[in-house]
Amino acid sequence: MAELEKTFALIKPDAVRAGKAQEIMQLIELNGFTIIAKQKLQLTRARAEEFYGEHKGKEFFPKLVNFMTSGPIWALVLAKPGAILAWRALMGPTNVFKARAEQPKCLRALYGTDGTQNATHGSDSPISAAREIKFFFPTLSGDPTIYAEPAAAA
Ligand code: ADP
Ligand code: MG
Repeated sequence: MAELEKTFALIKPDAVRAGKAQEIMQLIELNGFTIIAKQKLQLTRARAEEFYGEHKGKEFFPKLVNFMTSGPIWALVLAKPGAILAWRALMGPTNVFKARAEQPKCLRALYGTDGTQNATHGSDSPISAAREIKFFFPTLSGDPTIYAEPAAAA
């Protein structure tokens, strides 16, 4: 059995705009994840560019930033054994058309829109999960192996 682990997820603007955020969160829980933190927010350009910094310079980067700033999103911290890989598997392939062809029940096939607007984000490694959790929830530990935050000292 994989170790209990945390990962970071986003419900992106297309899915929130379509009114699917609550349904996606229910599916997340039905698939055995615990949502240990959640926040609805809208990214500024600067924050979106920083979050997706690894893709700066790529041809799709401006379109990605326009999309990610186009409306509210949900930032989520998820916990489950093997959460990082499990959440990537539940989301499915990055490209929605590929997702629909290969994994029609994955979240991106069900809720995504096109090659850029793909409904959800998930950390791709423990290092990314740590960075992304801290990016949105600076008071939480980013350490993916720490899932129960110590109670604040009295
Ligand atoms: P993932 O979100 O599956 O980790 P990447 O990190 O490669 O995928 O890309 C980040 C996001 O950028 C994707 O989720 C998608 O919204 C967008 N994106 C990635 N590749 C492309 C592409 N070739 N064309 C348009 N948008 C893309
Ligand atoms: Mg990625």
